[in-house]
Amino acid sequence: MAHIDSTHSSQLDKARQVMAEVFGYPDFRPGQAEIIDSVLKGRDVLAVMPTGRGKSMCYQLPALVRGGLTLVVSPLIALMRDQVSALQTAGVNAAALTSSDDAENREAAWRGLEDGTLRLLYMAPERMAVPGLAERLGRAGLSMIAIDEAHCVSQWGHDFRPDYLRISEFAQAAGRPQITAFTATADAAARRDISARLFERAPEEFVSGFDRPNLHLAVGARRQGASQVINFVKARPERAGIIYCASRKACDEMAEKLRAEDVYALSYHAGLDAQTRSFRQDEFVKNDGVVMCATVAFGMGVDKPDVRYVVHAALPKSMEAYYQEIGRAGRDGDPADTLMLWSLSDAALRRRQINDSESDDERKRMEMRRLSALIAYCEAPQCRRQTLLGYFGDEIEPCGNCDLCDDPPKLIDGSVLAQKAMSAIARTGQRFGLEHLISVLRGLKTDKVMARGHDGLPTFGVGEDLSKEQWMSVFRQLFASGAIDQPIDGHGEWIITAKGKEILFGKLPIRLRPPEEQRGTRSARARPSDATDQLLSETDRTLYTALRKKRLELAKEAGKPAYTIFADRTLIEMAQEKPNNLDALSRIFGVGARKLDRYGDAFLAVISSEL
Ligand code: ADP
Ligand code: ZN
Repeated sequence: MAHIDSTHSSQLDKARQVMAEVFGYPDFRPGQAEIIDSVLKGRDVLAVMPTGRGKSMCYQLPALVRGGLTLVVSPLIALMRDQVSALQTAGVNAAALTSSDDAENREAAWRGLEDGTLRLLYMAPERMAVPGLAERLGRAGLSMIAIDEAHCVSQWGHDFRPDYLRISEFAQAAGRPQITAFTATADAAARRDISARLFERAPEEFVSGFDRPNLHLAVGARRQGASQVINFVKARPERAGIIYCASRKACDEMAEKLRAEDVYALSYHAGLDAQTRSFRQDEFVKNDGVVMCATVAFGMGVDKPDVRYVVHAALPKSMEAYYQEIGRAGRDGDPADTLMLWSLSDAALRRRQINDSESDDERKRMEMRRLSALIAYCEAPQCRRQTLLGYFGDEIEPCGNCDLCDDPPKLIDGSVLAQKAMSAIARTGQRFGLEHLISVLRGLKTDKVMARGHDGLPTFGVGEDLSKEQWMSVFRQLFASGAIDQPIDGHGEWIITAKGKEILFGKLPIRLRPPEEQRGTRSARARPSDATDQLLSETDRTLYTALRKKRLELAKEAGKPAYTIFADRTLIEMAQEKPNNLDALSRIFGVGARKLDRYGDAFLAVISSEL
């Protein structure tokens, strides 16, 4: 692993300066400086960095500082187009070669190549098969190939692209330029695989931690209906957000319910035709506050740094999937909220899916273990982030930015509650689901209870003092701690595990969170953690709204996503500082020289008219 030996390199200072001028960012994000320094020194580099940390900057900036031509290989065409458009807005000569590009664009790209003014050329991997292209780029002075989503070269990975196997040969034919590779997901084995396939010599490796400290984490129990999601969304007006729903139908219904509340919500799933999908994705990216109700089909390749929240309306597929999906919020580094709502029926559904799948038994057992890890996360007794990162092998202190840190539950001795719950399971013969067990505990004479004579059990009514919600919380926690379980091929019945028996017979203590009525609502931040609400006074907020309006107007005119004009944080600073001339405006975060030129007057006009 590379060491930080170089914060004083003059090249790096130059890079920092260029970043401030062109992109308007005052400093590097964690991990960037080391990588950029190494790239500037001409080394081959493999960097693993979580989504949203700013991988692109690690090849864009060297391309600008050094001159020459950098080729960027990326499989995500929409993302490629947005990046090129963002670079052009910042005044960088960049182009993309995709099959969907028109002749005019391609022509401009080739001209830039011939006269040496083109700095960044983006290309889909299948283009590497075009005869003679490598040689042509070589003659045009190709100095670096940057490979995005580098895990696609690994056959072990989840996203293998055969075209990536051409990279090494292509580089050879292009005169062996420097190679840099970037990905958000690669464990040690995958890194070895990537290294062997992409590089001639071992590259310098950089692995930055998994943490995304700007994401607020929260998990809650889902109750009937959509009110939890609706309240959450309505507390965050005009923010872009993603609601992950369990099915296509659930996406459509959620979007409809939100629209009925005057929220601009759209649904997105594989059941829609390609044209509708692409229109809706575009709306989401280019507009300012669209709420996307989507299946997991949505997200990969959507480059929108200012997504302010991600909600899971049901249990995600795994910890890995959860981590990746919440990672789509707050890629600009500003505060963003996440909320997962789940219920035991989600877990039962996942079990059935795993059991009914084609996989062999070994694989099924592994999937079950992964599901258990996810449930344990949902019912974690302390800091969510510790549990989440612990799963990925990172150890941290309590984070101060999750529901459990905000409001740490005082754990209680849960032995008696656990024993009541488990004796209800045992006395009814380990053959019943939650609904019935809770009826027995609460002493309800339902038809089913009467038909089975369960009102005569010693356990009948011993849990009268707790509500149904509270008992659900006890059962969830028992499940998460491994005391009770559902047989993989069962019908929703609960059984007691070996660990559960020890608790039942008083041999093993168990600590529980006090069973709460409404952890679900308390866990979600009532107010958004995003910067606008924390930083802006009432009057500044009026100006902020006006600035956003201007931004959207300019974006629509140019047919570009709003954030490529200016980031939210830039507008927030403008609203606070109220610069009244170009010089003052240029000192605002995110205002580079080119953008100052292009948009400065327009935004100054808004500021002066609001004062
Ligand atoms: P990823 O690592 O997922 O490829 P990106 O490269 O798309 O992330 O970067 C995410 C966002 O962060 C972009 O909007 C980018 O402009 C911004 N960004 C990158 N570096 C910095 C920085 N040093 N300071 C502020 N914003 C940055
Ligand atoms: Zn925490």
